[in-house]
Amino acid sequence: MALYRSDAFVLRTYKLGESDQIVVLFTRDFGKLRVVARRNRRGHSRTAGYYQPLTRLHVIVYGRPTRSLYHTHSVDIAQAFRVLHQDFNLLSCGLYMTELIDISTQDRQPAPEFFALFDEALEALARPEQPPGAPMVLRHFEISLLTLSGYALQLSECAHCGGELPPGACGYNARAGGLVCATCAATRHTLKIGRAACGYLRGMMGHIPLPETLPDTAAQQDLERLLHLHLTTCLGRKIKSYPFLYL
Ligand SMILES: [Zn+2]
Repeated sequence: MALYRSDAFVLRTYKLGESDQIVVLFTRDFGKLRVVARRNRRGHSRTAGYYQPLTRLHVIVYGRPTRSLYHTHSVDIAQAFRVLHQDFNLLSCGLYMTELIDISTQDRQPAPEFFALFDEALEALARPEQPPGAPMVLRHFEISLLTLSGYALQLSECAHCGGELPPGACGYNARAGGLVCATCAATRHTLKIGRAACGYLRGMMGHIPLPETLPDTAAQQDLERLLHLHLTTCLGRKIKSYPFLYL
């Protein structure tokens, strides 16, 4: 029997019998762990309500390394991120990032860089009045997640023919995995991307200095469309929480 002590976020919960639940935790030090916990708040289980997404917990769980289910020894709230639970828009953004982390990580495979990215993105989301604001927090999160997952966008040259990219308006081709030149854009299904969005994207990926001002609404929409297409193509699935971002 081994003890595992770590900070963790709840990704999902499943009902187990009348009074228990399986909690899928994303721990900083051990990756994703499935833990059996009490579900009923009554009786001796004062901690049952702690198991909700967008709350950083400090957990100690135990179990045999060869088994897939662990048991809770203790759980405490390390950071509640209350503001995210009080605003539907921010809640939707947080749950969207939670789903992306769930899709991108594996059971019992440590991924501390994904944990740090998620934690920092939630901190930024919990300060919605400060730049860059919730939509751009999501865009930065998506780009970093894609890069950590090995799906970085091809931005330095045409993702199809390897030719030079013009400094102006660009196109994005999902099959090629990045921006494409005008010649390739003419013969392939291409999402048109404006100059401002293109520049900002290159800045976010470290190819050029990040522009000092945030992109305008049209450029933000370009970035949102492009990254959503790239994410769903690379991950090979729909993101269930995505439509809730725009209710
Ligand atoms: Zn090309």
